[in-house]
Amino acid sequence: MSYIEWFEQHGAKHKEIVDKLVAKGFSEDEIIDYFDFDNMVKEENDFCPLYKEPKKCHDMKKLNCYLCGCPHFRFNDDGLGEYNEFKILSKCDINNGEKFAGKNVIHQNCSKCSVPHHKAFVKKNFDLSWSKIMSGCKA
Ligand code: SF4
Repeated sequence: MSYIEWFEQHGAKHKEIVDKLVAKGFSEDEIIDYFDFDNMVKEENDFCPLYKEPKKCHDMKKLNCYLCGCPHFRFNDDGLGEYNEFKILSKCDINNGEKFAGKNVIHQNCSKCSVPHHKAFVKKNFDLSWSKIMSGCKA
């Protein structure tokens, strides 16, 4: 799946859940709490493939899923630039995490960075529209 396909599909799933919670009268804090990993596994099992096992993407006691993938992520399926013979397809805007190389391409690796999964970060960057929060990701 390309980055843009994932981005659009995830944004649509996220919106469906938020719209449902807003219609039920949930406050901002209640919406953020609803996106807690343990609750999402129970209530929204199709939201993330890892919920099936269930397995957390990061080893954190409290993991919030509201801002998966991360407002600092930058991607372009046609390339953000080049490094030697590699095309750079994604990177981190604040230079966290690591890089990994695939066949002629370099991707951002966020597996060791928990920045977007902390409730305080979600609260600070909150908007009902996930697409709005992530609007800088499509570089
Ligand atoms: S490395 Fe961390 S801050 Fe950077 S894009 Fe990935 S999750 Fe976000």
